[in-house]
Amino acid sequence: MTAQADARLVSLFRSLSKISGSIVGLTGALVLAGWIFNVPSLKRIFPNTPQMVPNMALAFILTGASLRMLLSAEPPSRNRERRIAQLCAIATGLLAMLTLVEYALGLNLGIDQLLPADTGASETAYPGRMSPHTAFTFILVSIALLLIDVKKRLLPAQYLAVGAGFISLLALAGYAYGVSFLFSISNTTGMALHTAVSFMILCLGILFARPDQGFMTLIASKSTGGFVTRRFLPIAVAVPLALGWLRLKGEQAGFYSTEVGLLLFAISNILILSSIIWWYSRSLDKTDRERRRSEEEIRLLQAITQGITEAEDFDSAIKVVLQKVCETTGWALGEVWLPSPDGSCLQCSPSWYSPIKGLEKFRQKSEGLRFQKGVGLPGRVWSSKRSAWIPDVTEDPNFPRALLAKEVGLKAGMSIPILAGTEVVAVMDFFVMDPRKEDERLIGLIATIAAQLGTVFQRKQAEEGLKQYAAELEKSNKELQNFAYVTSHDLQEPLRMISSYLQLIERRYKERLDEDGHQFIAYAVDGASRLQTMINGLLSYSRVRTQGKPFGPADCESILEQTLINLKVAIEESHAVITHDPLPTVTADGSQLISLFQNLIINAIKFRGDKPPAIHVSALQTDKDWVFSVRDNGIGIAPEYHERIFAIFQRLHGMDYPGIGIGLSICRRIAERHGGRLWVESMPGTGSTFYFTIPMRGGNPP
Ligand code: ADP
Repeated sequence: MTAQADARLVSLFRSLSKISGSIVGLTGALVLAGWIFNVPSLKRIFPNTPQMVPNMALAFILTGASLRMLLSAEPPSRNRERRIAQLCAIATGLLAMLTLVEYALGLNLGIDQLLPADTGASETAYPGRMSPHTAFTFILVSIALLLIDVKKRLLPAQYLAVGAGFISLLALAGYAYGVSFLFSISNTTGMALHTAVSFMILCLGILFARPDQGFMTLIASKSTGGFVTRRFLPIAVAVPLALGWLRLKGEQAGFYSTEVGLLLFAISNILILSSIIWWYSRSLDKTDRERRRSEEEIRLLQAITQGITEAEDFDSAIKVVLQKVCETTGWALGEVWLPSPDGSCLQCSPSWYSPIKGLEKFRQKSEGLRFQKGVGLPGRVWSSKRSAWIPDVTEDPNFPRALLAKEVGLKAGMSIPILAGTEVVAVMDFFVMDPRKEDERLIGLIATIAAQLGTVFQRKQAEEGLKQYAAELEKSNKELQNFAYVTSHDLQEPLRMISSYLQLIERRYKERLDEDGHQFIAYAVDGASRLQTMINGLLSYSRVRTQGKPFGPADCESILEQTLINLKVAIEESHAVITHDPLPTVTADGSQLISLFQNLIINAIKFRGDKPPAIHVSALQTDKDWVFSVRDNGIGIAPEYHERIFAIFQRLHGMDYPGIGIGLSICRRIAERHGGRLWVESMPGTGSTFYFTIPMRGGNPP
C-alpha cells in the first residue's frame, strides 16, 4: 500500500473505534439486564422478530471489551490487557462454534441456558440459542479480533470484519425492506435488529482500530484516493438503500405503481448520485488547481533562488526575477524603480521584462519619469514600505501613466517593495492586460521573492564594501612598504654625509677640541653608525616582500651548508656544535631561507649560556607543511616575551648582547611570504626552539 495515512484521521478513527467498542459492550449489558429484570423491549425491538438471547448479549460484552482493550494494547506490547482481550475473543468464538455444533449435530450442550433462561420457550425450538448466522458472524468477528495485528500480504482481520459487516448489513436491509429471510430463519430464530446494528458498529470498530494498516490506509489517507473513498463509499451504500426503501414504502402506501416506483427509484438514483459526483468533482478540481498552483509556485521559487544565487550583482538578480515572474504568472510587464542617488525620488532601473510585444512605448515613458514619495504606484509603495495592488490602473486617480496604460492595454498592477532591513532599496512593478481583483497569495509569493532580493542586495553591498576595503588596504600596504623602502634608502645618503663630516671634523680639528669635544663627537659617530645599521635592517625587512625571488626547489641540506659557511667565524669563535637531521627539498626562495636560518643560528650562538652552544636543526613533515626547528641550549626566553620578540626593534637583553632587534621580524616576514608561520617554544635557562613552517603545496607568493 503506497498511500500514507493522515495522522489526524488515524487518531479520529481510533477514537471512533473506542466509542464503538463501548456502545457494543453497553448494548450487550443492557440486553442482559433486560433478561435478568425481564424487560421484553430490551430483548427484541419489534414484536414477532428474533430476540437477542442472553449468551449473545454476553458475547457482545466480551467482543466490545476485547476491542477496547486491543486499542490500548497495540503491538509490540504484550501486556496483560492484550492477553485478556484475546481470551475474550476466544471465548466468544468458542461459544459461537459450539452453538453451530449444536445445530449441526442436534445436541444441547447446555450453553444456551447458562445465563437467565429464555422464557419464550414456546416461540422457538431452541430457547436461549443464538441463530446459526449470528453464530457464524460471531465466529468471523472473534477471529478478526484475534488476528487484528496479524499482517500477511493482506490484513485478514479487515476482510473478516468486512464479511461480518456485510452479513449484518443484509440483515438490516431485510428489516428495512421487510424481507425476513435476510435476518431470520423462522420468525423467532434469527438476527435481532439490535444484534445487526451492534454487529455493524463492531465491524466498523474493528476496521477503525488499525486505520494505518491494510486497505484502511487508503481510507485514512490524505491523498485524493482517500478523499474520494471516504466520501463515496458511505454514499454508495446508503443512497440506493434509502431510495429503495422510500420507493417500497411509497408503493406500499399506494402512491404509485411498481413501474412508476422503479422509474422514480432509477431517476432519483441518477439525480442524487450524479449531483454528488458533480459536487465532489468540482471540489476535487479546485484542490487539483490549488495543488498545481502550489507546484508552480515552488518551481518559480526554486528557479528564482537558483538564478539569484548565480547572479553576479543585484541588477542581474532583479532581471532574473522579472523574467521568471512574468513567464510563470503570465503577467505582461515587470519593471523596477530605484531611489535616486540623492534619495529625493524614484527613477526607473534599466532592468525590465515583457514577454509581450508592443509595450515598449509604456516602458519608454517610464524611463523619463521620476516619482516622489506617495506619487504613482511605485511612489506609494516607497513611502508605505508595503505592497500595493490596483485592480485597474486606467481608472486609478493616483496613476500618472493611466492614459498610456489604456492605450497599450495594461489593466491591473501590483507593486512590491524590496527591503534591506527597513530601507526600501527598490520597488518592483508588474502589470497585466486584464483587470484583476487583489490576489493576496500572489502578493505573498512575490514578497517572498522580494525578501530574497533584499538579502542579495545586503550581501552584495557587504561584498562590495569588503572588496573596497581590501583594495584600500592593499593600496595603503603598498604605500607603506614603498614609504619604508624609500625613506630608509633615501636616509642613507644624508646619514653617510653626517658620519663622514663628523669624522672630518674629528680629523681636521683634532688639536682644537678638548676632551669633551672628542667624547661628544665619538657619541655622535656611534649614534650615526647605529642609525645606519637600523636603516639597513629596515631596508632588508622591506626587501623581503619587494625584492624576494620567485619560488623554486630549494634543497635545505645545501641551504644549511651555505648558512654555516657564512657563519664560519662566529661558529669557530664560540665553539658551537651544530648538528642536523636529514632536511627536505622545499619550494621556496632559497636565498631568503639562507637568511632565515642564518638569523636563527646567529641568535642561538649570540644568546648562549655558560656552556658552548649546541644547536640542532631538524624538519618534520605534517599533512600540509614541513615544520623546521632550530633548537639551542642558550639562555631561553620567558613565555610572556614569546610574541614580543618578533616585533621590529624589540629586544630583551639590551646592551649585554649586540644587535638592533630586527632579525626575528625579518625571519617571520620570510616565513609568512612563503605562506608559513614562525614561533618559539622556550623557558629561561632551558634553551629555545624556534619553529617555522613551509607549506608543501608549491606555488609562488602572492
Ligand atoms: P637581535 O638579535 O638583534 O636582538 P632579534 O630580532 O633577532 O634581534 O631578536 C630579538 C630578541 O629576541 C633578542 O634581543 C633576544 O632578546 C631574543 N632572542 C632571539 N633569539 C634568541 C635565542 N635563541 N635565545 C634567547 N633569546 C633570543
